[in-house]
Amino acid sequence: MADEPQMKGMSTRSLHAGHAVDDEHKSRAVPIYATSSFTFDNTQHAADLFNLRQFGNIYSRLMNPTVDVLEKRVASLEGGAAGLGFASGMAAIQAAICTICHAGQNFVSGTSLYGGTHSLFTHTLKQLGIEVRYFDPADPASIDGLVDENTRLVYAETIGNPKWDVPDLAAIADKAHAHKLPFVVDNTSASPALCRPIEHGADVVVHSTTKYLGGHGVHVGGMVIDSANFKWADDPDKWPEFCAPNDAYHGMVFEEALRGVGNVAYAIHMRTNWLRDTGAAMSPFAAFLFIQGIETLPLRMKAHSENAMRIAGWLHEHDAVEWVNYPGLPSHKDYANAKKYMPDGQGGLMTFGVKGGKAAGEALVNNVKLISHLANIGDAKTLVIHPASTTHAQLNEDAQRAAGVAPETLRLSVGYEDFDDLTADLDQALRAG
Ligand code: PLP
Repeated sequence: MADEPQMKGMSTRSLHAGHAVDDEHKSRAVPIYATSSFTFDNTQHAADLFNLRQFGNIYSRLMNPTVDVLEKRVASLEGGAAGLGFASGMAAIQAAICTICHAGQNFVSGTSLYGGTHSLFTHTLKQLGIEVRYFDPADPASIDGLVDENTRLVYAETIGNPKWDVPDLAAIADKAHAHKLPFVVDNTSASPALCRPIEHGADVVVHSTTKYLGGHGVHVGGMVIDSANFKWADDPDKWPEFCAPNDAYHGMVFEEALRGVGNVAYAIHMRTNWLRDTGAAMSPFAAFLFIQGIETLPLRMKAHSENAMRIAGWLHEHDAVEWVNYPGLPSHKDYANAKKYMPDGQGGLMTFGVKGGKAAGEALVNNVKLISHLANIGDAKTLVIHPASTTHAQLNEDAQRAAGVAPETLRLSVGYEDFDDLTADLDQALRAG
């Protein structure tokens, strides 16, 4: 529209996308709509909202205006059509899978995963009758041997946590599409400031907003973004979720009913069925905090990437360090993919091994003073953890190795403290061991 401002750039969208100042109160910041419910104009209005004849606020388990701004903002940053907020990244991942994959069906996932995602896929989804089939993300061709008529999607992480491998997203997307399957990507570790998987063929993007999107380690949250690129209606028999009458909505066919608002049947089905029934909604307070965080996302990701690059180089040169694994280092096995998919910086996440193995690594973790020992990534502050005994402890040794976790591996999430202060802390901790 003529009177809408231009909002092409990532920084502009991080500050403005999804929010217009309201005419009545004129609040510049996004207000926190702390309400469980929204009043209806009359019974007809209520019935129209409940039966999806009209879109609008009903109840904050389904939608909330503060969460709505966040959903639109992240969708804009990712280049998607619709977003959906969740109480955590895990809730978002489960929703992304379970909206299209049900008991008796299977999906194909890269092995290089956050430990909680691996547990969800291997154990909890199995209890629901859903089978995961793992492929090596470095070998997209291996997907071919895993797909059958009950396969529903292909899944991978942009940068596998904590292997920090960078798969060839476009090649995996091509494989998924050759099998007429949607490609779901967890973009938590890169954030849309560094990589936008939809530009490389992903159909759905998921996030733990707990990490870089929030950026300050102050709340847990998750997000699913629907690109609207996957054409469910091209294969109606395969996708009855969207193309056949929905029992929970008096026989409505989502794909047909929603044609006027774009190809967003996946996102709207997820909201009106999965989110409604599981209640894993994001609170407006959480959304407000994530909105504050996203305002500085491009600046922060630049600072994380620059600091991490310097720290990786410094660790590489340190005589107490055995190896360093950071996708921005030319020695990294996926350096070419890292440069291709994240040309403006490779983020703040790395692993390294200390000479002396596991015991020496534990000594470092026990001796850091400025760096925090905790189970998170993507905070403004620098964080360290020993994955084999914590985040990935539930995986057996083979699965740990496939996920990039050796007994001695230390995971470092580099914040943007001053470089000299970080290296002073690392140096004293390396020597204390
Ligand atoms: N995806 C990745 C890559 C993660 O690192 C995490 C958490 O560490 C999650 C998903 C899960 O997110 P949350 O802790 O918000 O449930």
